[in-house]
Amino acid sequence: MHLAGDFKVEMQPRRQAMSSSEKREGARWMIDLRKTVQALWHGEILWSCPMARYSTFKAGGPAAALIEPRSIEELASLVRGLREQKIKWMVVGGGSNILVTDEGFAGVVLHLGRAFGAIAEVDSQDGAVRVTVEAGCSLARLVNWCLEREFSGLEFAAGIPGSIGGAVVMNAGAWGREIGSLVEQVTVIDGAGNLVELAGASIPFRYRSWGLAEQVVAAVTLRLEKAARHEIEAQCHELARRRRGTQPLDKPSAGSFFKNPPDGPAAGKLIQDAGLKGYRIGDAMVSPKHANFIVNMGHATAGDILALMDVVLEKVAAMSGIWLEPEVRIIGDRQG
Ligand SMILES: Cc1cc2nc3c(=O)[nH]c(=O)nc-3n(C[C@H](O)[C@H](O)[C@H](O)COP(=O)(O)OP(=O)(O)OC[C@H]3O[C@@H](n4cnc5c(N)ncnc54)[C@H](O)[C@@H]3O)c2cc1C
Repeated sequence: MHLAGDFKVEMQPRRQAMSSSEKREGARWMIDLRKTVQALWHGEILWSCPMARYSTFKAGGPAAALIEPRSIEELASLVRGLREQKIKWMVVGGGSNILVTDEGFAGVVLHLGRAFGAIAEVDSQDGAVRVTVEAGCSLARLVNWCLEREFSGLEFAAGIPGSIGGAVVMNAGAWGREIGSLVEQVTVIDGAGNLVELAGASIPFRYRSWGLAEQVVAAVTLRLEKAARHEIEAQCHELARRRRGTQPLDKPSAGSFFKNPPDGPAAGKLIQDAGLKGYRIGDAMVSPKHANFIVNMGHATAGDILALMDVVLEKVAAMSGIWLEPEVRIIGDRQG
């Protein structure tokens, strides 16, 4: 572990080697999981799937299994089956706001990717347009699709990575705008695997959260408006330029690691004032360019990133009395 700066960091206790009976138990659990999941799903299953591949942090341990459903019906049936079999599961979109611990996720990841990416114009009237998009569509593709058709509203999202499903769940936003304000309707799969239509107005969107739990976003209808292409394009380019100027986009990260506190200075300012810019544990570093970004300098483990998160939390709290809240969703078991 490489430490910079003058702060003390508690080492994570080493994981004790597994006893042979624990190993046998683990193997039995995996055999049972394989049988159960194979009975539910006849398509491809990636076993012991390294989640670093599915996270923009490029770090993290494995998921016991990863499946990519190709339709809302397949997704609903998987959610229903996994729930009935009491198997832990979760959804991942672009993986741009998650960190899976090195110990990994002992369950099934449902990855909503390209196969879940249809976009369609529903209707337009008097300059207002409604667009429905499946949850796996990337925000980048959606922003471009809207630009081609001269649909305005999503310019603030130019440069935000990830999927539209993840954006709704995180209520992604930038430059004073949030996706929640554009949502007219969301098709969700509830915890029991039923398809339910939610009106946007009924969703309790708040800062970096849509305020709901245990619902999978399957598709979203957004309310946009017509505008001139050159205006939309100019806005997207300007915001992307500002992003490049202030964010370390050349290194893997999950964007802003911490939420901004409701009152007072932004998280980045607090971290900078705590003297932590450039502070490093292993290959995880507080970006010298933007203190609220933790970046992976090459081979950071999730443990490095989490140890650095702990240092930031403690140092900022000691300096300001503010306990920051991570925006990044931390998934899986954590030792120590
Ligand atoms: C360089 C960089 C810049 C960023 N800039 C911004 C920014 O300006 N503003 C901002 O708000 N964010 C920003 N982010 C964070 C991130 O891009 C957004 O939060 C994004 O919307 C997350 O989408 P995702 O598909 O990657 O979600 P994931 O990381 O895959 O998932 C995030 C959470 O949403 C859940 N989830 C994902 N899809 C679904 C679904 N279909 N149904 C139910 N739950 C789901 C996951 O279980 C997880 O809890 C940035 C990230 C990076 C790496």
